[in-house]
Amino acid sequence: MSFTIQNALIPVESGYETADVQVVDNCISAIAPNLEPAGRVIDGKNKLLLPGFVNAHTHSSEMWQRGIIPPLPLELWIAELYDFTPLEPEQVYLSALGTAVETWLSGGTSVVDHLVLIPGQELETIAAAVRAYQEIGIRAFIGPLIQDESLTAGMPAGDSGIEHAAYIRSTKATLELMETAIKQFHNPEKGVNMLLAPTGIQLCSDALFEGCIELSDRYNLCRHAHLLETPAQKQLAHEKYGCSAVEHLQEIGYLSPRTSLAHCVWLDDSDIAIMAETGATVVHNPLSNLRLGSGIAPILKYRQAGVNVSFGCDGAASNDSQDLLEAIKIGSILHNITDLDYRQWITPRQSVEMASLGGAKGLNAADEMGSLTVGKKADFVLYDLTSLSLLPRTDPIGLLILGRPTNAVDSVWVNGKQIVAEGKVTTIDVDALRRKLFDRSEWTGKRQSQTVSEIEAHYRKVMNLQGYS
Ligand SMILES: [Zn+2]
Repeated sequence: MSFTIQNALIPVESGYETADVQVVDNCISAIAPNLEPAGRVIDGKNKLLLPGFVNAHTHSSEMWQRGIIPPLPLELWIAELYDFTPLEPEQVYLSALGTAVETWLSGGTSVVDHLVLIPGQELETIAAAVRAYQEIGIRAFIGPLIQDESLTAGMPAGDSGIEHAAYIRSTKATLELMETAIKQFHNPEKGVNMLLAPTGIQLCSDALFEGCIELSDRYNLCRHAHLLETPAQKQLAHEKYGCSAVEHLQEIGYLSPRTSLAHCVWLDDSDIAIMAETGATVVHNPLSNLRLGSGIAPILKYRQAGVNVSFGCDGAASNDSQDLLEAIKIGSILHNITDLDYRQWITPRQSVEMASLGGAKGLNAADEMGSLTVGKKADFVLYDLTSLSLLPRTDPIGLLILGRPTNAVDSVWVNGKQIVAEGKVTTIDVDALRRKLFDRSEWTGKRQSQTVSEIEAHYRKVMNLQGYS
C-alpha cells in the first residue's frame, strides 16, 4: 500500500516548509518537495502534518463514569469508581472505541490503556479491548491493571492499626493470568502490544513487581505503573519501605528505559536524579492531577534533569474527557506558574515533541514512531489550517497547542492506514457507537458510594483533616 501526501506544511528547524510525504509499505519512504507521486495522491494543501501523539496513560472503561464523581481526592474517588465500575466486557469494548475516537480527533495515534479488569472475567475484559482497538485501528498498548492488595491498603495506616481484607486473587494467580494474556494477545504486527502494569506501590507487593519485571524481561515488554500521584502515597511509601517509592522501585529493579510512570507528582530532587539515571519516563496527566487535587508534577525539573516526559489524559472519570490537545495545553502552560525562569517554560514545539517522540520513547518505540522521519511507521495526523479555530494564519503549531482547536483534525493514519478522512472516522460507524453508549446509560443526578462512606473517616484522620468540617 503506497500513497503520497502533496504540499503539506511540515515543521522544520527554521520554521515551516511545504513538502510531499511518500508512504510505502506502512512506512515513510520520502519527504521532499515535488516528489514523483507513488500510489494514491492526497492533497495536503493548507494542512499541517505532525507525527501522531501518544495518549500515554488512560483507563478506557472510566468513560462510563465521566462527569459524575464528585470532587474527591484519589483515595476516595477510586472507592466510588470501583463501586460503580462496568461489569460487562461489551461495555469495555464500547468505551475502548470511544477512547480511541476521542484520542484521534485530538491528534493521537497511539493509546496506553491501563485497563481495569472485570473481576472473574479478566481475559474477557482484555479480549474486549483488543477487539475494539483492532477494529478501529489505533495503535494500542494494553497494560492490564493489576494489584495484590485490597483498596484500604492504598491509604497510609497512621497509628490506626487498620486491618486490610485479603485481595480477591493471589499474586501467583495474577502473574499466571498476565502470562496467559501476553501469549494470547501480544501482537505488535497487528497493532496490539501488551505491557506489564501493576497499579503502583500503593496496592502492590514486591513479589508482584518482581514477577512483572521477570515477565517483561522474558517477553521483552514495556513496564508501566502509577507513581506518587498523591501526598497520601508519598506518606504510604515511607510507612511501607522506610524510604521513598522511587528509591524502592530502583532497588527492586523496576525502573528502566522501557518503564513509563504515570503522574510522578510527589518526587523530590534525589528521586528525580534516580529517574534520570534509570532512563524511566514520566507520563504527565495534568488534568487528572487538578481534578483530584493531587498536585502539580515538577515537569520543568524533570526536563532539566534529562528525564523523558510524555502526556496522558488519564481515565475519563478523572479528567473528564480524552482530549489530548487539552491535556497538552494545560500540561504545558501550567508550569509557567511553577518556575519563574521563563527560559525553562515549555514551547509549543517542545510540547509536540513530548507528546509524540516523548510518548514513543516511553514505550521503547522511538525507532519506529514519534517523528516524521524516513523509515519510521506512517503514524501521523493532518490538521486543517482553514478550520476557524486555526485562523487567522499565525504560527500553526503555536495556535494548535495554545488555542482551542475544534474540528481541526482532517486525516489520521496509523501504520500507513487512513482511519480518519475529512474529520470522519472511516473504520467504524461512530453514529452506531453513539447510539450504543446512549442506550446503555442513563442520566443520573445523585448516587451514593458505600465504600466512600466506610473509609472516609480513616482518610480524614491519617491526612490530618479531622479539624475541618
Ligand atoms: Zn491512572
